[in-house]
Amino acid sequence: MDVDVLFFDVGNTLIYADPPVGEVYARALAEEGFCADPREVERRFEQTWAELRRRRAAGTLEYGMTQQESLDWWRLVVRESCRPFGVPADFDAFLRGLWDYFGSGDAWAVYDDVLPTVRELRRRELALGLVSNWDVRLEGVLRDLGLWERFDWVTISAAVGIEKPDPDIFHHALSRCGCPPGRALHVGDSEVEDIQGARAAGMRALWLRRDAASGGPGVIHSLTGVLRALER
Ligand SMILES: [Mg+2]
Repeated sequence: MDVDVLFFDVGNTLIYADPPVGEVYARALAEEGFCADPREVERRFEQTWAELRRRRAAGTLEYGMTQQESLDWWRLVVRESCRPFGVPADFDAFLRGLWDYFGSGDAWAVYDDVLPTVRELRRRELALGLVSNWDVRLEGVLRDLGLWERFDWVTISAAVGIEKPDPDIFHHALSRCGCPPGRALHVGDSEVEDIQGARAAGMRALWLRRDAASGGPGVIHSLTGVLRALER
């Protein structure tokens, strides 16, 4: 595969919540006197997020573009996720604690295969970018993790007002680096947002499925799979 620029998704492609969100919420609830099983909280969180996404008005951004809009979204997610277990009396302070925590590198871990892959891509003199659906906190998270400066172009939905899978967010990223779509590859874990979105923009795409046993064309199981795909 012959390309000049590689773009990566961020969440569950380069970094993951560590410990998992359910564990963090359960611990925060415990500090408020509410007892909750972390796995149940995690399930409730995932259901809530999916449900709120479904109900979101067409054409609106999940995380908005400002801190206030992002906080409003997370207020809904956190309140509904915690409701069966207990809602703290000072809910704004509770939300703020979680907001600050997930806005720092402390909440996230970088997958082991990220830095070796990025170093090798740099050795091959490829340009690297990120295309992420994330709120206003992503820059701080990536700086804390030492990832921000490793990428030439970072395109965040909250900054540009477009979210994957809209191909326009990929067009936006491509225009910043002056790369034609056919010379760019996008790598991500979401079939809809990353793979369908990037292909609709005319780019190549690799679907990162870390947990899947079966493969197929265009599927990789670890980030180092990118290196092998480029050699083919
Ligand atoms: Mg992702």
